[in-house]
Amino acid sequence: MGNWFGGSSSGPGLKLSNGGSEVFLDVLALAACELAETSFERGFALLLCNSRIGLGNESFDLDELPWSPGWEAEHAFLLRVVELAQKHFRWELLSYEPPYADRYLAEYAEVVRGYRPPEQPVELPRMWDPNPAEIAFTRCPDHGLFLGDYTDCRLCS
Ligand SMILES: [Zn+2]
Repeated sequence: MGNWFGGSSSGPGLKLSNGGSEVFLDVLALAACELAETSFERGFALLLCNSRIGLGNESFDLDELPWSPGWEAEHAFLLRVVELAQKHFRWELLSYEPPYADRYLAEYAEVVRGYRPPEQPVELPRMWDPNPAEIAFTRCPDHGLFLGDYTDCRLCS
């Protein structure tokens, strides 16, 4: 059992247990929802908020993101998200201590830094909603996360 967060399915990546994946997605989502502005950025934050462990939608490769010809800005956004998470952004809102999150984020920063999108875009994944409803971007008043496809945020549930 485990979930995979890599650049592609074959390159470097993070293999995490379900518990580790929850933590990883929580700390990235806190940062991503705060920084997201463009539709790519909001889509990435939504992907994190919609990834719920145990529902079969808990991992993704960077290859699956809808990179545009201006991918450098999108890539820089991902790095900013990881860096903000590495500053423990809003970790005081977590209901638990994330003892291994610093290590996950350090490894993921390397994955993102070394990543380049494929020349040919890959088929859009099931988890990336190309036309999200505006209501999915409603932010939880307690945690600031997008509610996404659910009625509560991933930290409330
Ligand atoms: Zn919440």
